[in-house]
Amino acid sequence: MTDTTARIVTSYGKVYIVELADGQRLSASTRGKKTDYACGDRVAITVLNQEQAVINKALERQTLLYRSDQWKSKLIAANVTQIIIVVAPVPSFSDELIGRALLAAAEAGIRPLICLNKCDLPESEQARARLAYYQRYAYPVVEISAKQDLSPLRPWLAGQVSVLVGQSGMGKSTITNALIPDANARVNEISQALDSGKHTTTHAQLYKLDETAELIDSPGLQSFGLAHVAAEDLPRLMADFVPYIGQCRFANCRHRQEPGCQVTAAVASGDIAPGRLELLHRLQDEIYLAKNNY
Ligand code: GDP
Ligand code: ZN
Repeated sequence: MTDTTARIVTSYGKVYIVELADGQRLSASTRGKKTDYACGDRVAITVLNQEQAVINKALERQTLLYRSDQWKSKLIAANVTQIIIVVAPVPSFSDELIGRALLAAAEAGIRPLICLNKCDLPESEQARARLAYYQRYAYPVVEISAKQDLSPLRPWLAGQVSVLVGQSGMGKSTITNALIPDANARVNEISQALDSGKHTTTHAQLYKLDETAELIDSPGLQSFGLAHVAAEDLPRLMADFVPYIGQCRFANCRHRQEPGCQVTAAVASGDIAPGRLELLHRLQDEIYLAKNNY
C-alpha cells in the first residue's frame, strides 16, 4: 500500500476513477460513507493494488461547483476555471439560465463565457442582438457552429478546466463530441475495465483535450440553484448592477418599491434590462424561501 495524490477523472456519485501522475487509472472508493468529492478534485489516496485505491481526503480546491436548491446541495465539479454557457438561436434560449449561470460563475470565482452555437442558422442575427446586452457589460461571447467549425472556441479552452452548461437542444453534446471524438467509446471502455458495468450512470467525467485544456462533462449540469448565495451579494455578482451598488437612498434597498432606488431608475432609463431586475427579485425570493426552510 502506497500513499500518493491523484485526480478524480470520473465520478459515479459514490465510486470514482482517479488518475495518477503517470496516467494510470484506478477505481477508488471513499472511507466510510463520505461522498463529498467531485470530478476534478485532487485527492490524497492510498493505493491498494493494481486496480483499486481509497480516497483519504480532497486537497485544497481552487473552485467548487455545486447545485443547490432549498432542500439539498450536490457537488458537481471541482477546480473548474471556466463555465461555457451554450446558447443557440433555435430553440430560443432563456435569459434566465444565462443569468443564473453568470451568477453562479461569479460567486464561485470562475470565468464565464457565453458561446452562441448554430451560427450557420439565419436566426442567429436575432440571438446575437440579444447577447449584445451581456457583451456591453463585458461578459465575453464567442460564436461557433459546432457542426461546421469549432475553431473560434479553441483559444478560449487553452489553459482552462471548462464545463459546458445550457438548456437541452443548444448543442452541448455536439460540441463535446466534436472536442472529444471518441468520448463515448473511451468512457465505456474504462467503465467496463474498472467497474464491470456496475455503475452505469456517470455523474461527471473529465477529459484532456490537449496539453493544457480540460473539459468536465456532467449530465447533471444543466442549471443552477443559487440558494447558497447571500441575497445582499446578488447585485455585486451581476455586472450590470455593479455601477449602482451603494447608490440607492436606503443602504438595505431591495430594489423594489423603495423611493430613491437607483436600480429601478436604471431600468426605467433602459440601462438595466427589465428581465435582469426580475431575475434579481426571483433570486431574492428563492434565497429567502430557502433560508426559512432550513
Ligand atoms: P444538447 O441537448 O445541448 O446536448 O444539444 P445537441 O448537441 O443534442 O444538439 C441539439 C440539436 O442541434 C441536434 O439536432 C444537433 O444536430 C443540432 N446542432 C448542434 N450544433 C449545431 C450547429 O452548429 N448548427 C446547426 N444547424 N445545428 C446544430
Ligand atoms: Zn435600490
